[in-house]
Parts: sequence; C-alpha cells; structure tokens
Amino acid sequence: MKLIDKEVVKNKRVLLRLDLNVPTDNNLNIMDNTRIIKSIPTIKFLLESNCNIIIMSHMGRVKTEEDIARYSLSNVANELSKVLNEDVELLSYIKKDDLKYLNVKFEDKKIIMLENTRFYDLEDGAEKNCDFELSESLAKLADVFINDAFGASHRRHASTYGVRKYIDSYYGFLINEELSNLEILNKPTDRPFSVFMGGAKVEDKLPIIKKMLLTCDYLCLGGGILNSFLKASGYDVKESLCTTDEDTIRELKELLNIYSSKITLSNDLVWKDDRILDIGVSDYRDVLSNSKLIFINGTPGLFEVEEFKKGTIDLFEILKEVDGKVIVGGGDTVSAVNNLNVENVVDFISSGGGASLEFITDGYLGALE
Ligand code: ADP
Ligand code: MG
Repeated sequence: MKLIDKEVVKNKRVLLRLDLNVPTDNNLNIMDNTRIIKSIPTIKFLLESNCNIIIMSHMGRVKTEEDIARYSLSNVANELSKVLNEDVELLSYIKKDDLKYLNVKFEDKKIIMLENTRFYDLEDGAEKNCDFELSESLAKLADVFINDAFGASHRRHASTYGVRKYIDSYYGFLINEELSNLEILNKPTDRPFSVFMGGAKVEDKLPIIKKMLLTCDYLCLGGGILNSFLKASGYDVKESLCTTDEDTIRELKELLNIYSSKITLSNDLVWKDDRILDIGVSDYRDVLSNSKLIFINGTPGLFEVEEFKKGTIDLFEILKEVDGKVIVGGGDTVSAVNNLNVENVVDFISSGGGASLEFITDGYLGALE
C-alpha cells in the first residue's frame, strides 16, 4: 500500500476509513476529540483535491440492537463538521443487503458519513469477519479507498482490509506519521536506547517486552509489570497486581537471567494495605537522562488516584532532562500524558493504543499488509 498523492485522488469519489472512536460520557457527549483532530490533515487534502468523501468509522463495541442508539456517530459527525467548518451529513444505518443498491448523492455537500461500521457486526459479524459482500458493497461506493484509521489497522475488518480487494487503495497522513515514528523503535540507531514498561497486565505486554529486549540497551520497569518481575525474582509482592500464571513467572525468570545487564527493577516501592501501588523512579534517572532514544509504555503506578500519581509525575520530570527522542504509546499511558499536561515533554505520542503496540511487536499492521 502507498501513501495518497494528489494525482490519484484528484476529482475522485473517495471512501475514507478513519478511527473516530472517541471517548464519550453516558449522554454521548464527546470527552476528547483528539482522534477527530488527527484525521483533519487527510480530509483537508482531499477537499483541496476536489474530492467527494464518504467517511467510515467504528465506535465502541456493538453487541446488541440497543447498542445502535448508544454508538451512533451523530455527535462525531457534528463535531467533525464544527472542526472543519464544512457540512458533514450522516446517513442512517443501511443494512448490508440494502447497501448494494446505495447510490450516494452529494448534491452541494462534499462529505457524507456512514453509520458505525460495527453495526454490521449485528449481521453475522460482517465487519469483524471481513465479509466479502459487505466489503464489495462498501468498495462500490467510491473510486478510491483511503485508510487513515491507524488505531484500527491491526484488525483485518471489512472496512479496513476487506474493501481493498475491490478498489484502488492507499493510506493517509496519520498512518504515515505513525509508521515513520514507530519504525524508529524497530530499527533504533540512536543509543543508548531505553524502554520504560509499566502498567497493568504482564501477559498483555510480554510480546512487546521480549521484542524490546532484543534491541534496547536498558529496560526500566514499573506497575504490575514490575510486580510480576519482582515476584519472579523471589520477592514477596503480597496482594499486589501481578501475574499468577506459572508459565509466565518461569518466562520472566528466564528473561531476568538472560538480560540481567539490561533490566533494572526499582527497589523504591510505595505500599498500601499489602499492595504496591506506585514506585519511586529515581533509580531510573541515570539511565533515562543519558538516553538518546526512549520508549514509554504503561505508567509506574496507579496514576488515576492522587495518592499514587507521584511516580508518573516524576517519570515525566526526568524526561524533561532528556535531549534524545521520547516516544510514548498505549491507551492509558497517553491518557496519563494528557491528564498531567506533559505533552510538551515528549517528541511523539502515538494515537493507536493496541495498534501501536502490535506494530512495534510485529513490525506490521494486518490491515495494511
Ligand atoms: P496502556 O493502556 O498505555 O498500554 P496499561 O493499561 O498497561 O497501559 O497500564 C496503565 C494502567 O496500569 C493504569 O490504569 C494504571 O493505573 C495501572 N497501574 C499501574 N501501576 C499499577 C499498580 N501498581 N497497581 C495497579 N494498577 C496499576
Ligand atoms: Mg490499557
């Protein structure tokens, strides 16, 4: 797949897959429009190229008919319209069988949005199972397909992957920016290259930890990940969040043996009621502040609770001293960065959550292959 350029989109009808899966409150108000803002460069480029645009996005997890009201894209369409200062018309949900006969009429509008692609999961999982009829009907709506849904591109769904079989396909500027930054981690040239891995479940993070250990110079640990490594090293973490799986513990023990010169375990533990809920990060200062490239995923502690925020705050304080490149990825980690207002301390914040971690681990994203 290639990056879009003016020649291939000029005056065309474009089917554009975005990730507009924004967080909402119970009244469906948008809590954070970052994903909408990130989609603007590609949309503007298409408008400047005189395109008609049909936007697709998913939102939430759609499991029952009731979710159709819960996860409508109507507020997303309104917000996008406001940000762009352009009309954005949301079509109501068109069932798979009717989609075949849809002829999108733009009239004086430039942008039409389809309803949540995950509504098709209510029709025998058509979106997630990459149903070929759905893929073909979507592809028939336009001349060119553009995927700029970075956060959804680790999944091969009808709207991200299936459509490509039936239509000329390219990727957009957000995906381009994400891949060029994250590729640096896969082929690090600036050294020392250090990684901080914190957060919750070690099982989720083991693949990326193993991948990073192959290329990094130092690995600093925090959160439930640190607790699990401490447990594997024979330390009693009591009721702390950690793995209980024997195979995982064995694997962590092996990693500690093989990579003893790379892995640092902080000894500065903040306990409450038999649980380690935060750590002091000063043991990591020397390593991090001398690094030329740093990747951060996961937080040192339970940063959502005031009492256990200090490790996370101090970690970003240390990063202020770094003159190398700092890259941050992961859903909750990015929330922590936004919550603490430390965006200016880092060089690149990946917007992809699971997609970022999968790209770093595997070196590719399924929907882009
Ligand atoms: P990401 O979503 O960025 O990949 P994770 O979900 O792995 O990151 O980690 C962030 C979560 O880990 C946060 O919700 C944080 O509160 C939690 N966490 C970090 N340290 C601890 C701890 N010691 N005990 C319990 N939860 C923790
Ligand atoms: Mg998370």
